[in-house]
Amino acid sequence: MARVFVTRKLPGDALDRLRAEFDVDVWGLDRPPSKAEIIERIGDVEGLLCLLTERIDREVMDAAPRLRAISSYSAGLDHIDLEEATRRGIIVSYTPGVLTEAVADLAWALLLSVARRIVEADREVRGGGWRVGWHPTYMLGSNVYGRTIGIVGMGRIGTAVARRARGFNMRILYYSRSRKPEVERELGAVFVGLDELLKEADYVVLSVSLNRETYRMIGERELRLMKPSAYLINISRGAVVDTEALVKALKEGWIAGAGLDVYEEEPLPKDHPLTRLRNVVLTPHIGSATREVRERMAEIAVENLVRSLRGEMPLYPANPEVLVSG
Ligand code: NAP
Repeated sequence: MARVFVTRKLPGDALDRLRAEFDVDVWGLDRPPSKAEIIERIGDVEGLLCLLTERIDREVMDAAPRLRAISSYSAGLDHIDLEEATRRGIIVSYTPGVLTEAVADLAWALLLSVARRIVEADREVRGGGWRVGWHPTYMLGSNVYGRTIGIVGMGRIGTAVARRARGFNMRILYYSRSRKPEVERELGAVFVGLDELLKEADYVVLSVSLNRETYRMIGERELRLMKPSAYLINISRGAVVDTEALVKALKEGWIAGAGLDVYEEEPLPKDHPLTRLRNVVLTPHIGSATREVRERMAEIAVENLVRSLRGEMPLYPANPEVLVSG
């Protein structure tokens, strides 16, 4: 029976299905295993089911000479050295798609929260700061309806964010690696260069995948291009933004505010400069965190691994060429 290592307990009963076919070892703690702990457990595994909190690099693969399949419980793949896995003939799969709408909802929750100061307003009510009843200049935010949204990375999530923007009668600009004629037709989205998008948009939403080109693609220069009245929403990966530059931008008013779900360092330290700013709304990487989505992700991650270990194509392969050529 092939051995499989799973780096965390998953919601729902998907792991039972895995146990029915394989000898399954599940990491039992709530914190992620360290690299050394993973290496210690995977000497004879053929399958690995991991999360985005585990960096699966050459060193980890070296420690598992029998590894044939990696199934990631995530939509991003930046934590896995995909090139190295492909070189070794290891099929890698992941769970995009099922979380698209939930993440787009969270992007909008952040956008509306920061534009209308919902978190600050809640604190005012609870903390006794609401002293004058209705006041013409109290807690003023920014309009959303009819404004311009700029989507950086018009993939699954970017498109779902854009669909919601239609309901707010927004002008939709986007920048992506490639043009999306179908999105342009369906949503009236306009393809522009990144600089133009940053200069024009009232709300910039980052929904790119993290890779060599998108690493810190939003730095000081880009933040200075944005309007002082504009907001930045990041639901992609923290490392797409230069955090230090963002803190400066928020402190010095180059931009009006930010809504962030992802950070260069996770968990974000309690005393991080971002936590001391009023014009940011911070969520702890919960884009896909609905009960339904997390259970469905578990089912798909398990299905991907079962298929991969049987030598079949997983539902969402990241390097299908491994099976096609192998
Ligand atoms: P996707 O469909 O692959 O979309 C990614 C988009 O990024 C694609 O449109 C791609 O452009 C674009 N892109 C990649 N590299 C680029 C570059 N160098 N310049 C410009 N655009 C570039 O993925 P998705 O399902 O929408 O997910 C997007 C990302 O969201 C994931 O990779 C993950 O990191 C993040 N995510 C976060 C959460 C959360 O909890 N906050 C949850 C799920 C996912 P092309 O289409 O032209 O290739």
